Amino acid sequence: MVYVATVFIDPFTSFTSLQHLYAPGSTLCQAMDVVVKYADEYVFDGLYDKVVVPPFLLNNSTSLGAISSWSQDNLYRQSLTIFIIVCLGGWIFYLSSAWASYQFVFDHEMMKHPKFLKNQVRQEIICAVSAIPGFSILTVPWFVGEINGYSMLYEGTPQNAYEWLYLVATVPFFLFITDMGIYWIHRLLHHPLIYKSLHKLHHKWIVPTPFASHAFHAVDGYLQSTPYHIYAYLIPMHKWLYVSMFVVVNFWTVLIHDGNFLSHSDVINTTAHHTVHHLYFNYNYGQYFTFWDKLGGSHRQPTAEQYDASLRNNKSVWAAQTKEADTIERDDENKARKYAH
Ligand SMILES: [Zn+2]
Ligand SMILES: [Zn+2]
Repeated sequence: MVYVATVFIDPFTSFTSLQHLYAPGSTLCQAMDVVVKYADEYVFDGLYDKVVVPPFLLNNSTSLGAISSWSQDNLYRQSLTIFIIVCLGGWIFYLSSAWASYQFVFDHEMMKHPKFLKNQVRQEIICAVSAIPGFSILTVPWFVGEINGYSMLYEGTPQNAYEWLYLVATVPFFLFITDMGIYWIHRLLHHPLIYKSLHKLHHKWIVPTPFASHAFHAVDGYLQSTPYHIYAYLIPMHKWLYVSMFVVVNFWTVLIHDGNFLSHSDVINTTAHHTVHHLYFNYNYGQYFTFWDKLGGSHRQPTAEQYDASLRNNKSVWAAQTKEADTIERDDENKARKYAH
């Protein structure tokens, strides 16, 4: 217990001891390195051998063991490889998970809501698919740093109860800390000075479908992802746990847009909470928990209409929601106009 507390207080010092406590052979390592290693072996070594690379891109080639003429430790090559992996992986993950959620979980009755746009699903998909390349470019430096050993991710099997405890405790701690980061960044994105240029696009979807999950401005999506990267650079976390959490948080992003309200939790930021955010804008900025919203005075508990299917798809409820959404949007636009002058 003392050890875990030490880790939380002083991650840099404690990480050295964490490394020391692990079995010989365990080293500081990166989450992206294994992905890049296999991608190099099966795709990119062969691919880069076939393309002509301008000489200025080759100038930092130093690797002795590289198979390709474009060395594996060349920063330009690493950046390009990571961009392709993140962009392709992002498209595949987004399209498959949002499609599955839309097909099997999403309440299609919501598409009759007066605030549901014409061709909305098509618009959401076009928006997300075109945002993912820009988002991927912005993310590249973080992953290049990771594969070159600058993050605090570690590997190896925990050797004792304390190390297991630390590993398990990492999950709620990671979610709590990144939720804090996302809460404040998201809240800042709603500031009248920057809302219109960066975040308004994601609020085009007042009644979102799972395809809205990644339908945002590339810079907006990137800014809301920075807490995960900063965490990996500051606090020791097991590499595979980090990779798993990365997948989980992306699933979560899809889930909170699926319009199916199973949980009545007051602690978790559920789909119902995020639906309130899309309807009424200035509430429920959190991603996983309601804690920061309650602390920051922006929490709004979903009402019965969000949970009860008959009320949820009731026309007079929709009319009342539309009226309130329009009033809040008008007030926000007036506020933005005041800031502009
Ligand atoms: Zn928002
Ligand atoms: Zn959303």
